Amino acid sequence: MEAVYAVTIAFFAVGLLRMGNPKTANSGILWAGIAMAFSIAITFLMPGLSNILLIIPAIMIGALVGWVAADKVAVVNMPQMVAIYNGMGAGAASSIAAIELLGPGRGLFEMSIAAAGAVIGNVSIAGSMIAFLKLQGWIRERPITFPAQQPLNAAILVISIVFVSLYLGNFSSSISVTDALALFFLFSLVYGVMMAIPIGGADMPVLISLFNAMTGLAVSLDGYLLSSFAMLVAGIFVGAAGIILTIAMARAMNRSIHAVLFGVFGKKLEEGRQVMGSIKITTAEDAAILIGYSKLVGIVPGFGMAAAQAQFRVRELADMLQSRGIKVIFGIHPVAGRMPGHMNVLLAEAGIKYEYLVDLEDANRLFPDVDVALVIGANDVVNPAARVPGSALYGMPILDVDRAKNVIVLKRGTGRGFAGIENDLFYSARTKMLYGDAQDTLSKLIQELKKI
Ligand code: NAP
Repeated sequence: MEAVYAVTIAFFAVGLLRMGNPKTANSGILWAGIAMAFSIAITFLMPGLSNILLIIPAIMIGALVGWVAADKVAVVNMPQMVAIYNGMGAGAASSIAAIELLGPGRGLFEMSIAAAGAVIGNVSIAGSMIAFLKLQGWIRERPITFPAQQPLNAAILVISIVFVSLYLGNFSSSISVTDALALFFLFSLVYGVMMAIPIGGADMPVLISLFNAMTGLAVSLDGYLLSSFAMLVAGIFVGAAGIILTIAMARAMNRSIHAVLFGVFGKKLEEGRQVMGSIKITTAEDAAILIGYSKLVGIVPGFGMAAAQAQFRVRELADMLQSRGIKVIFGIHPVAGRMPGHMNVLLAEAGIKYEYLVDLEDANRLFPDVDVALVIGANDVVNPAARVPGSALYGMPILDVDRAKNVIVLKRGTGRGFAGIENDLFYSARTKMLYGDAQDTLSKLIQELKKI
């Protein structure tokens, strides 16, 4: 049986490798999906499996809900979906740990492993649910903070560990051991909630990724307990991928994991900051003339392009410019949008060739020569406040569109970016704002270009 699981693990590894490249990512998902289906199927061949009549309907209900939800979800709502699915995984992991803690015949070492799996799983499920509610806008998204928050959180974690120690050592005189176990679960869930509420703004996707890594760890601890090689390795894959993604996102925002967890995004300053300059509004007609007579146009997509599903219009515009001999590049910021690779996925969906996509460093070398930087629904990733010491965005690498000869920004109005910070770029002498939904505005721009 272990040999069969080893084959599925190899399939998972190939799937993960292929997901690392946009060209092979689709087939990578297929490899991993086949591996998962195969793992579930061979589990039914395990000796001693009971409750099959409960397991099969549970799998069918879960698969149906997952299929419909994944089919319907808009790409911009992907972080919420990852949060809720991760919460489900964490809940399953801590349920297994609970069964192991309640069951007979385990030594202290194994019970401690189960307790570790339970605490990590509980923190992850509770935190993921708060992250989901915040991103969905069902509770306040801004960080919730109060004095002595961190010591209180630490105390809650310590209390939960004391309760599980009482349970494991069987040495409580004032409360029953089962009450101690229930209180351990309660306090570790509360800790998960408390860990997530002070985090908000641009740090949310990083937090979700961290919870993802924690779920992987909880699953691998369960895998160890159940002597399940497949579960152990699957948990390690999820944990390692989650940690790598957490570090990659934090690095792209130039934030330490400590700052994400304890720093409170945007707390540092914003009030009282004076933005210099004034906003200048342009029309599709004027913008088309400026772009139509350029030699080099730098397109910078952001979350707004994804929200407007404007990638197909972007492709149409780029094709039109290229057919007129105008050079077009796409400046891609690693955290533009709401998940790593978000822009690459959307532009690839619209059939924009990979060779036109330029990463942050190369784009910044090119911007001084760019005649028009066309910012489409991007905000934080082009905010020059990131260069100002003390700003909440300080240190985050940005696309230097303000160094282009002209800048046209497509957005609906004066809404701020994910970080909630005013953008000095919009007030620059070189910048003109073209207000409206990105999809509509691009359509108008294309119509006007056709007239030139
Ligand atoms: P952003 O800062 O969220 O700004 C998006 C802008 O798009 C908004 O200012 C909004 O302005 C505009 N917009 C929204 N809907 C629109 C529509 N239908 N048409 C036109 N414009 C529209 O986006 P970003 O520059 O891509 O930055 C991404 C943010 O996410 C960063 O703060 C980053 O740190 C954070 N983040 C990303 C990741 C990741 O992996 N990608 C991970 C962690 C954090 P209006 O409301 O005025 O239209």
